[in-house]
Amino acid sequence: MIVMKFGGTSVGTVDRIRAAAGVVQAAGELSPVVVLSAMGGVTDRLIDAGEQAIAGNAPEVAASMAEIRRTHEDAIAALIVAEDDRRALRRDLEPVWEEMQKVFTGVLLLRELSPRSRDLVASFGERLSVPIFAACLNQNGVAADAVDARAIIVTRDEADFAQVDFAETRTRARDVASSVRTGRVPVITGFLCATPEGVTTTLGRGGSDYSASVLGHCLEADEIQIWTDVHGVMTADPRIVPEARVLDRISYKEAAEMSYFGAKVLHPKTILPAADLDIPIRIKNTFDPGRDGTLVTHDSPQNHQGVKTVTSIPGVSLVSIEGRGMIGVPGTAERAFGAIAGLRINVLMFSQGSSEQHISLVVGRADGPGTVRALRREFQPEIEKRQIDGISEISDIAIIALVGAGMKSIPGIAARTFTVIGEAGINILMIAQGSSELNLSLVVEQKDAAEAVRRIHAAFDLGTR
Ligand code: ASP
Ligand code: MG
Repeated sequence: MIVMKFGGTSVGTVDRIRAAAGVVQAAGELSPVVVLSAMGGVTDRLIDAGEQAIAGNAPEVAASMAEIRRTHEDAIAALIVAEDDRRALRRDLEPVWEEMQKVFTGVLLLRELSPRSRDLVASFGERLSVPIFAACLNQNGVAADAVDARAIIVTRDEADFAQVDFAETRTRARDVASSVRTGRVPVITGFLCATPEGVTTTLGRGGSDYSASVLGHCLEADEIQIWTDVHGVMTADPRIVPEARVLDRISYKEAAEMSYFGAKVLHPKTILPAADLDIPIRIKNTFDPGRDGTLVTHDSPQNHQGVKTVTSIPGVSLVSIEGRGMIGVPGTAERAFGAIAGLRINVLMFSQGSSEQHISLVVGRADGPGTVRALRREFQPEIEKRQIDGISEISDIAIIALVGAGMKSIPGIAARTFTVIGEAGINILMIAQGSSELNLSLVVEQKDAAEAVRRIHAAFDLGTR
């Protein structure tokens, strides 16, 4: 059995849906279980309509709903040929439209959207795309069933980033397994889950990848395929580095580092459930299904350079605390982290030199001012006593991350990186390397980021096999 997940762009248009259905049909002998995203852009539009509803903008909400409905109606009209099939599909979707109408009316009245209702608002995209896709397969002679993942994937918490209860999910996935054994193809909503009480939850934005690996784990699938709109994981962003190429093989650990650092091919949480059972993850392009894509497994061949990818993450801020008053004072870092953790700000990089005269943090740009305010508040006494000189923010910066498991055993990677960056006259503001040595991260000014990526890509010959 294999799990095949199709993302929003893979089901974004009538042609894409046809192509994706063709891919599933061709995989018939492998007993596919399909996991589907909402049609591209629909989740964004739903969330946006939710915000409009809080603001009381009834006409905008109505316009968004009409647009979402039109997108799906057009797809149905173009995809489903027989009038009877179309009528049956529209009948199946009617309760979803009615619920959507009620939910938005409720938000417009209450002018508030709790995390719980936000998840419900976001859930409609997958609940619409899945029945349409299943109908498409049936029309092609593939016996398929639309399955709502809220009956299968159980989460402990409500709200965004809910924690999956694997034991319960495994039990509930048994029905899926038996239906596959009878030769049927389940088409399951990605992204969605529910609490044991049946309250709708989601796995967070982009969470359909994670749905696929949770289901792959619980069904003990032979492979989890992530069908997307690129050829696979690349050595760099091809828009920055034209010679960038697709990597045939990477390891789970490398994939995890890469998905955190800018190579947005996989949702970061996707790796663990697959790695736990050694289930290979294959990343494939729906627009070019003949290509092998990237295979993610336990081990992967190491090249002589050690480095596999170089990516840049724009839109981050560097916040620094400086002053002699921190020397030898235990707990400074803890206080810094504590002050911003309360605001749910995510720290992307952290460093402290051994002189203990400054601590630097990298956070998302939107979190920059909040981080500075929180730190000023926390260290107010020290600032008044001049033990801390100041807390500053530089916002036009980018993180450059090199990832590769082979970096561990090869000395001189950092030296080579700094040399080529230095030769380009690019200033490095901060450096961090995890002790796993899988990742080397540097911070440069945003204006230098693309050149830094190109220089590093060339220095390690990442464009040649
Ligand atoms: N439709 C959801 C989103 O756009 C989940 C996904 O596509 O992975 O975030
Ligand atoms: Mg995605």
